Amino acid sequence: MVTLAPAARIDLHTHSWCSDGTEAPGVVVAQAAKAGLDVIGLTDHDVVSGWAQADAAGREQGVLVVPGIEVSCNWRGISVHLLAYLPDPHDEPLLAELSASRSSRDTRLQRMVKLLAADGYPITYDEVLEMAAAQASLGRPHIADVLVRHGVFPSRDEAFADVLSSDSRYYVAHHAPDPVHATEMIVAAGGVPVIAHPFASKRGKVVSDDLLADMADAGMVGVEVDHRDHGPSERAHAAALADRLRLVQTGSSDYHGAGKPNRLGENTTRIASLEAILERATGTGLLGAH
Ligand code: AMP
Ligand code: ZN
Ligand code: FE
Ligand code: FE
Repeated sequence: MVTLAPAARIDLHTHSWCSDGTEAPGVVVAQAAKAGLDVIGLTDHDVVSGWAQADAAGREQGVLVVPGIEVSCNWRGISVHLLAYLPDPHDEPLLAELSASRSSRDTRLQRMVKLLAADGYPITYDEVLEMAAAQASLGRPHIADVLVRHGVFPSRDEAFADVLSSDSRYYVAHHAPDPVHATEMIVAAGGVPVIAHPFASKRGKVVSDDLLADMADAGMVGVEVDHRDHGPSERAHAAALADRLRLVQTGSSDYHGAGKPNRLGENTTRIASLEAILERATGTGLLGAH
């Protein structure tokens, strides 16, 4: 068990260029140290390939790294993001599910590129691949980066508000597991499931309280409450539901480097919440300095 200083600053949700962040995992960790954080969770979408570099950088920079994954799920057409902390990275069912999601992300992005190119947008799939690190888990932000490079939109955010939104004619969904099933799978891999930004209504339709109750029954441990996409009433709702379901509350930046305005440490997680998460984890060990 690690001992955390009483004033430890903890940000449990960040992305590197192994998914749609813009920095190498080691750079994310170095930025975390610079931002005065003691602990970060590295939670790339559907991939664990950033963990090794984050471990090395964490040891160098004195940052404790909680290895994680933001698992893409789908519930009745709504995209649900499930953070998985400390799962066994060799667990076969989990790996199979993640690899199915990533390969479907590839084909889905190719289809979106085709639809956009057919309407005259300056984009090819090769260019999308150029914007991403090798073996990255590809997403719409990589299309956004190509459109920004060609001056079609000033930033990812404007591209998402337009052609990349989930109700755009160019939108294509990708394979993603049901959230209750994903919860069970993460628990079976020794990981700790925490639902990310569940009530972020600015992103579109959100899940029901009943789904969170079902996920809690399936072994979900926590709810991300403090996240910039939650307004004050959404935070209050998430916190009250967490109390009712006896779930741990977390907070995070959801840092994406230059890909989003989110700043490291803009929301943080209390030490008691991290301790409760660590107590439940049996899949793998902590990384970085500990
Ligand atoms: P995808 O997983 O390919 O469907 O893309 C969704 C991901 O894009 C989310 O998980 C966010 O990380 C990112 N994203 C969503 N909205 C925006 C935005 N407005 N600006 C930048 N990135 C965004
Ligand atoms: Zn992302
Ligand atoms: Fe997310
Ligand atoms: Fe995220």
